[in-house]
Amino acid sequence: MADAATGGHDGRVGRHWEETREVWRDVRELAREAFTRPEPAHYPYIRCDRCGRVGPHMSIARSGSFRVTEHGIAGVTTPPETVCPLCRHAQPRTVGDELPGTVEVTCAFRWGLRLGWRRCATAYTVPADAALIVCPVCGTVVPGPAAE
Ligand SMILES: [Zn+2]
Ligand SMILES: [Zn+2]
Repeated sequence: MADAATGGHDGRVGRHWEETREVWRDVRELAREAFTRPEPAHYPYIRCDRCGRVGPHMSIARSGSFRVTEHGIAGVTTPPETVCPLCRHAQPRTVGDELPGTVEVTCAFRWGLRLGWRRCATAYTVPADAALIVCPVCGTVVPGPAAE
């Protein structure tokens, strides 16, 4: 008997949750739009020492030891190493290792909003040898001009 009495109440709660979910979906979409249009990032295109391919090096690694003091970072024993996005090989940066962009590409990333589809459509240049490229605005990674 008690179950039947609370059944209607549960139904209302269910509808409320549906509405709440709708609102949160809109919030997430707006947040995503805001976060996918930051200042263009700079990703250096570097040829990998190990696999020989060119891709945007988006992260760095430090194989040496260092410690953080109140005056900053001390005791760094190696320069920052840049990580190949294709094989995860880390290598130190060298002078002139960054390849200039020569081929213009347009980002084709699209995402759905309730008002319709939005396109990133950022135009950016990448080296012709790049096997992997990344949009500097939305961060979408796609095969580059030299992808097999
Ligand atoms: Zn590599
Ligand atoms: Zn993009």
